[in-house]
Amino acid sequence: MPIDATQPYDDSNIFARILRGEIPSTKAYEDEHVLAFNDINALAPTHILVIPKGSYVSWDDFSERGSDQEIGAFVRAVGKIARDRGLVGSGYRLLANVGPDSGQEVPHLHVHIFGGKPLGPMLT
Ligand code: C5P
Repeated sequence: MPIDATQPYDDSNIFARILRGEIPSTKAYEDEHVLAFNDINALAPTHILVIPKGSYVSWDDFSERGSDQEIGAFVRAVGKIARDRGLVGSGYRLLANVGPDSGQEVPHLHVHIFGGKPLGPMLT
């Protein structure tokens, strides 16, 4: 069910529970500000979700309220994960759904990293 990305942060969401260790995940990367884990419903050979540890509903929320340090760490982490997974030469795709029209389902900002095969054209 797509979420309203303007709603206040709800810390019962599934990614908040992963961050608190209440739900298992297959970790792909972690630092002070960022956690990344494999998507449980992988749509490509590499399908990783990158999330900030701070409480942000969406990219919109993060870009408005996130600190420069958090945003910098997040952007660097996404690039590092792609490099470490060997995706740079073949290429990869980044995707962040924001709000109802995008179909965002989990109300904690996440960027998808897709790679490992030709990904075809972008969505309409
Ligand atoms: O961008 P969107 O909100 O639609 O993506 C949510 C993603 O979170 C889905 O790709 C889904 O497979 C993933 N997910 C997950 N682990 C969970 C719940 C959802 O990887 N426990």
